[in-house]
Amino acid sequence: MAKDYAYSPQIKKRIRKVIQNFANVLEASAGSHDDYLRHLDIHKDDDANQIRELYLRYRDHLAKGVVYFLAFKNTSEDIPGKLLVKIGYSTRLEERLKEYKRCSIHCKSNGSGKTLLQIPKRSLPTPAVFAHLLERIFQTVLEQRQYDYLCKCDTNHGDIFRFDPVHGISDEFTAAKCRVMDLKKQFEKWAEIFMGPMGLESLHKEVLSIHGPLLKRIEEMFKVANIRL
Ligand SMILES: [Zn+2]
Repeated sequence: MAKDYAYSPQIKKRIRKVIQNFANVLEASAGSHDDYLRHLDIHKDDDANQIRELYLRYRDHLAKGVVYFLAFKNTSEDIPGKLLVKIGYSTRLEERLKEYKRCSIHCKSNGSGKTLLQIPKRSLPTPAVFAHLLERIFQTVLEQRQYDYLCKCDTNHGDIFRFDPVHGISDEFTAAKCRVMDLKKQFEKWAEIFMGPMGLESLHKEVLSIHGPLLKRIEEMFKVANIRL
């Protein structure tokens, strides 16, 4: 269990809060969405945005996916020499990595992203349940390293974390990989809480049966109204 790791009381408190906020969303009853949607008119832009926001929130909360770590090229003058690592989650990792072509990341020869680490492991075909929560927990554990990085894609990526260089390793990608490997065991233990034999699979199935229909319903609403979701 992750209790093997000596998190500060502050980080523990933050992790608890992240889990609590996540649970609060999933504890809403399915009926409360009916009421909410009934008062919105999809043909009004503001209302359509609210419905979209609800859709994205539940889509993220219910998603099964992969948490990935990417090495960024540090072009920032603020923190020379630091190694930059992005932590994200995706339900379609291969496509997501291609989208990073326009970012300052270390790429494969085809230009797409190259991960330092994936959780669950690449060899495991099953994605992680509640992958978005897993991502948020990792980000919370590292929050003191968080750095707002203005990327060459003109986005201020907030989910980037900075690490000290590794003595004797000048290659940024290899050095970042070393730093991430130091964290691997810890993060795999978290993944085990979600996906292991005592994991959250059945809880995930349950909340999916409660809130999954909401996603279908909203997709249908946008389709009928002929509006892009
Ligand atoms: Zn970028």
